[in-house]
Amino acid sequence: MKHRTIILASPHGFCAGVERAVQMAETLLAEGAKPVYCLRQIVHNKQVIDALAEKGMVFVQEINAVPRGATVLFSAHGVSPATREAARRLDLNAIDATCPFVTKVHNEVRRYADQGYSILLLGDRHHDEIVGVASEAPSHVTIIETQADAETAIVPDMNKVAVMTQTTMSLDEVAHLLDILRRRFPTLKMPSEMDICYATRNRQQAVRQVAGRVDAFIILGAENSSNTGRLAKVALSQGCPAHLISSLEKLAAINLDPVTKLGLTAGASTPELFVREAIAQLQTRGFDQVEEFVSVKEDIHFRH
Ligand code: SF4
Repeated sequence: MKHRTIILASPHGFCAGVERAVQMAETLLAEGAKPVYCLRQIVHNKQVIDALAEKGMVFVQEINAVPRGATVLFSAHGVSPATREAARRLDLNAIDATCPFVTKVHNEVRRYADQGYSILLLGDRHHDEIVGVASEAPSHVTIIETQADAETAIVPDMNKVAVMTQTTMSLDEVAHLLDILRRRFPTLKMPSEMDICYATRNRQQAVRQVAGRVDAFIILGAENSSNTGRLAKVALSQGCPAHLISSLEKLAAINLDPVTKLGLTAGASTPELFVREAIAQLQTRGFDQVEEFVSVKEDIHFRH
């Protein structure tokens, strides 16, 4: 029988921001401050949400759904100034799990807006992170999702334009949009480091390096996770078929008969337990060898 191999592309799974947010949630629950409310999904992953809900966390979509005086956790994606203000009005004990990399983009938007810049914000207009960042200075921010947006964005002063990005954008997508924007706005200001975070860069790089060596790629994570979805796009951009898989049932339904070498990785909000369970299932399907390809070692942790 021929050997079939999984190549696990690493770094994979939890990043420092997700690790911090989940630990903050766990600590609050362990301290017995029940019920603890969380505004929207703390990170975009159902397994994580279900595990916290099981321990007593209550997830709400709107800040007004949190009872006066209760404890509320803000998700890793950040919130708008209006939400912070509403939390103050409701006397909530607000605990902020916003990833520090996201906070940095909020601060940049405020700084450039205060100096009178128009801000072109690259990202998904419906994602919680972009909704929160844009709300720092709505009259200064134009969201750029597509090539057409980049080609048609209008600003009052061509010489006062700055660009910022969602932390989980694809490097290729950003490079493409920046080419257009630099052509249109030659004095475009960019933050000293681009906003795409280390975890997004590293996971994309690992997928890019493995994609040419495998017949197909499985990306473990939630459909609504921005960084996870972009890992699938990176594999596809290298000509490698990619499947975004959010549950063991969905993995079982994928036909892997023609695949001898399978790339596997997980988005930044996917728990390691799911990766281990996925590997165990794949082993029962004939993938008897597991190799890990480590693109770069990560050692970033945030204190909480
Ligand atoms: S993907 Fe990056 S920005 Fe998002 S939580 Fe993780 S470290 Fe923070």
